[in-house]
Amino acid sequence: MCGIFGITDNKNAARLSYVGLFTLQHRGQESAGIATDDHGRLVSHNGMGLVNEVFTNDTLERLEGRNAIGHVRYSTTGSSHIKNAQPLALTSCLGEVAVAHNGNITNADRLKAGLQKSGAIFQSSSDSEVILHLAARYRGRTLEDTLAKNLPKLSGAYAFLFMTPGKVIGARDPYGYRPLVLGKLGRSYILASETCAIEVAGGTIVREIEPGEMVVISGGKLRSKRFAPAKKRTRCVFEQVYFARPDSVAVGRSVQTARYEIGAMLARELKDVKADLVSGVPDSGTVYALGYAKESGIPYQTAFMRNHYTGRSFIQPDQKLREFTAHLKLAPIRDVIKGRTVILIDDSLVRGTTSRKIVKNLKRCGAKKVIMAIASPPIVSPCYFGIDTPTKGELIANQLSLEKIRRFIGADALHYLSLPSLIEACGDHNDRDFCVSCFTGKYNACAGAASKGYAHQAAMEAL
Ligand code: SF4
Repeated sequence: MCGIFGITDNKNAARLSYVGLFTLQHRGQESAGIATDDHGRLVSHNGMGLVNEVFTNDTLERLEGRNAIGHVRYSTTGSSHIKNAQPLALTSCLGEVAVAHNGNITNADRLKAGLQKSGAIFQSSSDSEVILHLAARYRGRTLEDTLAKNLPKLSGAYAFLFMTPGKVIGARDPYGYRPLVLGKLGRSYILASETCAIEVAGGTIVREIEPGEMVVISGGKLRSKRFAPAKKRTRCVFEQVYFARPDSVAVGRSVQTARYEIGAMLARELKDVKADLVSGVPDSGTVYALGYAKESGIPYQTAFMRNHYTGRSFIQPDQKLREFTAHLKLAPIRDVIKGRTVILIDDSLVRGTTSRKIVKNLKRCGAKKVIMAIASPPIVSPCYFGIDTPTKGELIANQLSLEKIRRFIGADALHYLSLPSLIEACGDHNDRDFCVSCFTGKYNACAGAASKGYAHQAAMEAL
């Protein structure tokens, strides 16, 4: 989970990248960076922290050039450290090249070991650097030929932006796990993780980059090139459930509409449950709760005040930080809750520790009963495609029965949305279009090549 944004042929390339990254901030809060093509010389500025902490007016002023790529990072592979902040920029026999990556290369360790054996020196511990070293070794006539040769060697999930003097290239893995969208702003092309970034930057949406497709933007023109045949699409369904902003269109459907529909689905599945009010854990839970309220006739109420300045708890790099921010960010509204039976909706239940705190807080403020409704099925298996879910041992649904989870979080009842309802609400009746591996634990149906990476990691976990 990271956010990437690139723009071509625009005199405000750095500033528009800033706007794009600021809009994608929810996808990663550890570091941010922008690289620009300043008359054939790549310059970049990366830093730890939020977009508005990393960039000042002066730093943006110094990032001259009409092409730019940018990145906000949440680490899945490689530690939270400045050396892993992206865009990564290298000078090699390819010349100057910068890369921004969203995803997880599942065979990166094996590829890296091979490259190091033959003398490659890595400047980061991130899996993203592997593609640059591969490209430097196994070259084609042009950068796009080079990438077309080397991208198929990668397993796992990726949306990449590459920049060399005069050229920006976007590429999406053959399964389409991670999103990449194309937009237009006057004569400029934009590539971004989410549609909201393109629209906030003033552009219009053109289309999604297809799985296995590469787009090459140079001299004001865009060419599409296929570097691998598209496999059965397995777009991450969690984009709809949690990651994407409600004003984005993800996996083919408006995120707001899909979440509203998921809430309605939950209400249908819980049609016999009586309560005084329904509420959501902000922010994503709110839309689910509105959909639930409309379908069930149970009134919606805001049960929490959210402090917006603490960050998203799921995407903080370690458990200690996660717990701290979870505690800081949600304050129950006592008057709304006291003496009431509350249906509380959250997007997912991962470790259960945050839900436990929230339920405890509601009870402390006088809630009569708390019925916890989860807007996705139980997460029983880790993600190996770019989302930092914990190991199997830390996933509560992998370890405990429904009743034991209910007792652990202290709720009076607990319900998960069924997988068929989730798939239906996400707008595509063909469930093979989505990756649902973390709900099923089945990876080989999801990605042949990536499952090799999974098999290795699963074996390591079993040890
Ligand atoms: S395993 Fe889960 S989180 Fe990972 S890509 Fe698949 S649906 Fe998304």
